[in-house]
Amino acid sequence: MSTEKVVIIGSGPAGLTGAIYAARAALKPLVFEGFNAGGLIPGGQLMFTTEVENYPGFPEGLSGPKMMKAFRDQAERFGTRYLREDVTEVDFSRRPFVIKSDEHTVETHTVIIATGARANWLNLENEQRLAKSGGGVSACAVCDGAMPVYRNQELVVIGGGDSAIEEGSYLTKFAGKVHIVHRRDQLRASKAMQERFFKLVDEGKMEPIWNTVVTDVLGDASITGVRLKNVKTGEQRDFACKGLFLAIGHTPNTELFKDHLDTDEKGYIKLARPGRTYTSVEGVFAAGDVADHTYRQAVTAAGTGCMAALDAERWLAEKGIE
Ligand code: NAP
Repeated sequence: MSTEKVVIIGSGPAGLTGAIYAARAALKPLVFEGFNAGGLIPGGQLMFTTEVENYPGFPEGLSGPKMMKAFRDQAERFGTRYLREDVTEVDFSRRPFVIKSDEHTVETHTVIIATGARANWLNLENEQRLAKSGGGVSACAVCDGAMPVYRNQELVVIGGGDSAIEEGSYLTKFAGKVHIVHRRDQLRASKAMQERFFKLVDEGKMEPIWNTVVTDVLGDASITGVRLKNVKTGEQRDFACKGLFLAIGHTPNTELFKDHLDTDEKGYIKLARPGRTYTSVEGVFAAGDVADHTYRQAVTAAGTGCMAALDAERWLAEKGIE
């Protein structure tokens, strides 16, 4: 078995940007682009995004799948090789490292982990259907919220953390009103974010619906409302809205690595050096949402993918691995 210089796990913006840089550095990266582990597909979260309008360089916007195809083609043009397989096992305790899928066992000197994170959903049938069809249900207000269909409309955001308030306040730029549906009567969000929330409430741009959960999403081709249930009284009612945004947290795709690398209490990979992509194991680097619960943007993921490839290239050079 020949030993790879760089194996990249994941094929979203972080993994594929890492591949572009590693390929151009003549490292011939091998990308495990995934197959369907955890309901994910090659290309990552952008494959579920209808229109990407905030990625610099595309003034007209483009669809998430088109963008990921362009990333993939660009990496392939410089010599990236792909395996459309899920990694099932890693061994970072020996060198070279070992990466296994059901079909292949690969040895490699360095690994870039770019497996991303998945948004948490309520997993209601209509929520999933309308999210997949672009029918007004999304887990990313910053990605989808500026669409004309939401202008001056009643929008609902679920959650009580920083993301709910941040994404909700972003939506107030366009919406008629943003209704924050939270299962308790106190926000989890930071003090600063709570101040922003109460200011927007005072201005009439935001409205809390406390102690309430969404039990169904209404609408056929696109959302017309949500069914709400007050968890204190049990009372149910239908609430008309033109958009539903979930902000109930993300789950990093790190199940494979948790016995091998340091992760934080939420499972995100801990970076070992500030401003770099080193993990707790030398030669293993992490890029994109798998190590970032704060920014979670395609462009920041791509940026850290580039950093991880440069870190891997320099690490290989330091070790004299040609
Ligand atoms: P989070 O802090 O985990 O908050 C998730 C929210 O969703 C909580 O209010 C939670 O309710 C609610 N929730 C969870 N599961 C639910 C369910 N099944 N049904 C209904 N509600 C549910 O997640 P986040 O807001 O995405 O923030 C993640 C991290 O990123 C945090 O550390 C945050 O500080 C950080 N962040 C920072 C910024 C910023 O500083 N600008 C912006 C965004 C995120 P409970 O409160 O009842 O648990």
